[in-house]
Amino acid sequence: MLIVKKFGGTSVANKERIFHVAKRCAEEYKKGNDVVVVLSAMGKYTDELVDMARDINENPSEREMDMLFTIGEQMSVALMAMAFHKLGLPAVSLNAFQVKMHTTSVHGNAKITNIETERIRAELAQKNIVIVTGFQGIDENNDYTTLGRGGSDTTAVALAAALQADACEIYTDVDGVYTADPRKVPTAKKLDEISYDDMLRMALNGAEVLHSRCVELAKKCNIPLVVRSSMNDKEGTIVRGEALVV
Ligand code: ASP
Ligand code: MG
Repeated sequence: MLIVKKFGGTSVANKERIFHVAKRCAEEYKKGNDVVVVLSAMGKYTDELVDMARDINENPSEREMDMLFTIGEQMSVALMAMAFHKLGLPAVSLNAFQVKMHTTSVHGNAKITNIETERIRAELAQKNIVIVTGFQGIDENNDYTTLGRGGSDTTAVALAAALQADACEIYTDVDGVYTADPRKVPTAKKLDEISYDDMLRMALNGAEVLHSRCVELAKKCNIPLVVRSSMNDKEGTIVRGEALVV
């Protein structure tokens, strides 16, 4: 099986969590699966980059913002590869340029147009765990672009589609999709499954659990998503075509 696993910023916020994620992915790899890991920038690092930019220039160029943003995800993937190596596992990190993740050239809100799969396939064939930067792409001039805040979810789904993955799992800091944000509404209930359309409605209404474009793409490519916590083994929520009628 080929499995795409995406981990958000909180899940890779420090050394302990990076090793926790690496160990979790190692279990999957040791079962004989091909594992592609998509990462966000560590913790609130993207926000810190925004602050740094504004400190220099209150109205920074969109192109230069994207150039700056890409270092966040690049830092995560390189450190994660080092963690795998420390655990004695073969792994390689790749950024959007190395993968050739093509997007439109709308800086800060680019859309993925095509992902080349040769490099990733070659690394998987060498039995490497492949760790890919989320959120970033390249345009036709080979300039870096980004997909909009929270865009790493969309990278994961686009990669799962391009690689015809058997599963796409989005790991986050909550146990799944809730009827409301569990961090703000204590009575919110976790859903076992939800349809693409209901999930999209929630994402467009500001639910932060998934990037709206990721849900649109999953629907278009009919890729079931599993949203679950990186901190525990609970089942999470399945996002798919039609929620089962019971
Ligand atoms: N690091 C980027 C952000 O904070 C992308 C992501 O986390 O998905 O928006
Ligand atoms: Mg997110």
